[in-house]
Amino acid sequence: MDKPTPKADLFQANRDRVAPLLKTLRADGIGHMIDGKFVASISGETFETKSPVDGAVLASVARGHAEDIDAAATAAALAFKSWRDIGPAMRRKLLHRVADAIEDNAEDIAVLECIDTGQAYRFMAKAAIRAAENFRFFADKCAEARDGLNTPSEEHWNISTRVPIGPVGVITPWNTPFMLSTWKIAPALAAGCTVVHKPAEWSPVTASILAKLVKEAGLPDGVLNTVHGFGEEAGKALTEHPAIKAIGFVGESATGSAIMMQGAPTLKRVHFELGGKNPVIVFDDADLDRALDAVVFMIYSLNGERCTSSSRLLIQQSIAEQFVEKLTARVKALKVGHPLDPSTEIGPLIHERHLAKVCSYFDVARQDGATIAVGGKAHEGPGGGHYVEPTLVTGAQGKMRVAQEEVFGPFLTVLSFKDEADAIEIANDIRYGLTGYVWTNDMGRALRVADALEAGMIWLNSENVRHLPTPFGGMKASGIGRDGGDYSFDFYMETKHVSLARGTHKIQKLGI
Ligand code: NAD
Repeated sequence: MDKPTPKADLFQANRDRVAPLLKTLRADGIGHMIDGKFVASISGETFETKSPVDGAVLASVARGHAEDIDAAATAAALAFKSWRDIGPAMRRKLLHRVADAIEDNAEDIAVLECIDTGQAYRFMAKAAIRAAENFRFFADKCAEARDGLNTPSEEHWNISTRVPIGPVGVITPWNTPFMLSTWKIAPALAAGCTVVHKPAEWSPVTASILAKLVKEAGLPDGVLNTVHGFGEEAGKALTEHPAIKAIGFVGESATGSAIMMQGAPTLKRVHFELGGKNPVIVFDDADLDRALDAVVFMIYSLNGERCTSSSRLLIQQSIAEQFVEKLTARVKALKVGHPLDPSTEIGPLIHERHLAKVCSYFDVARQDGATIAVGGKAHEGPGGGHYVEPTLVTGAQGKMRVAQEEVFGPFLTVLSFKDEADAIEIANDIRYGLTGYVWTNDMGRALRVADALEAGMIWLNSENVRHLPTPFGGMKASGIGRDGGDYSFDFYMETKHVSLARGTHKIQKLGI
């Protein structure tokens, strides 16, 4: 049996792997992919993308505006005419080829994602594999995309079927950008839609690789178009374009509101996956060791830059002291370091502006009257980038800003509760409603709390473990609509009713 690679060797191997990739990136820059061609912006404008590790410029990126979006949307509209009619077998084959290409390049994608976003290699190593799984899962669902029902009445067969809605816009954020983009793009393509993708301006690198791989896999020109640029420019233009029939958006709640307004004149269908401030509720009868592992994992993995992170710990008063003591020790032991180092648990945050936002919550915690039990300041990490200490805030109350606002960093707020009713009240007293995690060995209570929590996804005695057929999405300010399995097709397709008469029903005779 092969011996596993020692961590120090893997760190060096990752650096060796990324160096030539970065050299090429710097030399070539990043263009849009419009109608199968890699192009500069019509204006010729560019912006720089920098690494959160050391601030080094990674690439000059095409800065898209309305005219670039128009070219991409026009290409997507033209390609839609044939892509929607490509049979499911061929579409399945092509999407599997994209998955193959992603798998073949998984290691390159992983190290580039680390350098572009600051996410630790231990989590990014599998990100491309999960992205390939998204393509395979929806490739295999191509055959079901048009499925409907027959609901016969006495004299008619009433058949429903689905047709792809048209060219769609996909707008994605910077946290785990490669995996997240495929999660939206794969079902859209499987449904028969064509796509204009606007990736986040803080993490454009792997989106350009996805565009390249999709082209190499043989998808027809114009089926996927990628336009880089800023939200208020390229993103806004995409949401306003009349040829684009729907917008799949992942990002902040405030941006979701703006997109809804921007899309109103053209009556865009929207699907929003937005922010969260998710509770993990630990009752005193839970398996506390497993609960502790899950609590730490769900806020300190992925730099806490995760919509489903359990950023509010609700701990039952009877066990609060002992649980928080163990939690404190674990948070103190977290390893902050270079994202390519496989032993790193927390890498640098995506951008200096985001670092400043996360750090501003240290003062908010103090002003709120809560206690910073661990962390509470920026961290001197390798490369001098946007590192922050993993932070634990205790003694918080439900109405405090640290208990209400999404920090989106390695920042956990601890609140305590008396009993089940108290836990539910605190958990729901917030504008968000994405996920909830409940730890208890009382199955009746687990089900009662699951029912009462105002959140789109609940995990009982588990951290977030994604299963692709299940509905993914939030309530309240955390989103509109669901992704996953057949739910994705409900968004990317129109349901159509076709009624067939048996030829026997009476038709009213007028004008006789
Ligand atoms: P953001 O809303 O600032 O940006 C997301 C995308 O929207 C970017 O591509 C940006 O350029 C674009 N954009 C910004 N303004 C726009 C506008 N006016 N019109 C059109 N596009 C516009 O979000 P972010 O900071 O990149 O990402 C972090 C946020 O994403 C967090 O709130 C997080 O919770 C959320 N998120 C949610 C989920 C989920 O599934 N619910 C998943 C991941 C991230």
